[in-house]
Amino acid sequence: MRVLVTGGAGYIGSVAVDSLIADGHEVAVFDNLYMGHRAAVNEKAQFVQGDLANKSEIDALMSDFKPDSIMHFAAYSLVGESVENPFKYLGDNTLNGLNLLQSAVENGVERFILSSTANLFDEPEQIPISEKENLVPGSPYGESKFFLERSLHWMHKTKGLRYAALRYFNAAGCTKVRGEDHDPETHLIPLVLQVALGQREKIMMFGADYETPDGTCVRDYIHVEDLAQAHILALKALTKNEVLHYNLGNGNGFSVKEVVETVREVTGHPVPAEVAPRRAGDPAILIADSSKIRDELGWQPKYPDLKPIIESAWAWHSANPTGYEG
Ligand code: UDP
Repeated sequence: MRVLVTGGAGYIGSVAVDSLIADGHEVAVFDNLYMGHRAAVNEKAQFVQGDLANKSEIDALMSDFKPDSIMHFAAYSLVGESVENPFKYLGDNTLNGLNLLQSAVENGVERFILSSTANLFDEPEQIPISEKENLVPGSPYGESKFFLERSLHWMHKTKGLRYAALRYFNAAGCTKVRGEDHDPETHLIPLVLQVALGQREKIMMFGADYETPDGTCVRDYIHVEDLAQAHILALKALTKNEVLHYNLGNGNGFSVKEVVETVREVTGHPVPAEVAPRRAGDPAILIADSSKIRDELGWQPKYPDLKPIIESAWAWHSANPTGYEG
């Protein structure tokens, strides 16, 4: 297939591009390099630096590359930031997404895969969280993804666009050649690894008084390569299915303390840790029930446990201590 990947220079998008190319697809990447890295883009992909805020820029690539499918990774994605600066999310994420959607339907794109989020499940009645759970966005970030899921629903109804909404839980881990390199970094695993690399004195654990077994938040860490495989399966499934919604996680929860402990084990570094106040917007537990995509598409994560995920991240971070720019 001919796949246009927005955000293909970013953490998850760059791994998806590698997987698409390995699977034999033609790929064009559209990225503003605001968070992404040119060096993270597979050299077999066509690369265009552009901004979804300018519809003419995405229109130009659309008429030049003529994709039949789109994977849309490019978005702001920090829950905490979205609470502090809601317009960046309620505005930019949705308007940029709409520009892409409009350009997609105007150019006859058949399939669209949206990076969605576990932040749609702010008040789950059941954990692990299945697709039957009510959608209750937990922040302006979650709301922006909810809006785009609803926009896709209407593009399907009115224009026949087929789509998959993939709701990631906590993307983690690295491949041999692609890693997690955000500036500033806010995610737990890369921050703990920075302590192990001697770049940071200690890790602050945000809250130890949650209703969880050890008091720290529990998350479902899912390897980026497994996420990428889910995208490829969804892409192929959209040739016969019209609409797909899947929750993507391992189905296992690990606490912040367990992450820190596993990093100590993997790196041999003592990793000093300190309890700090809770971070705004953090739910106590987020674990996915991903049996739907396993049953329907045969998705099988290769990294179901935390330790190999952290080992893969440690391998990349210790080989690239200053990230892509080094
Ligand atoms: N966390 C932490 N210290 C940090 C960064 C994150 O204790 O320096 C916690 C955070 O409160 C959450 C978990 O680690 O409970 C995962 O956070 P992350 O930002 O990696 O992902 P999120 O769950 O926000 O998508």
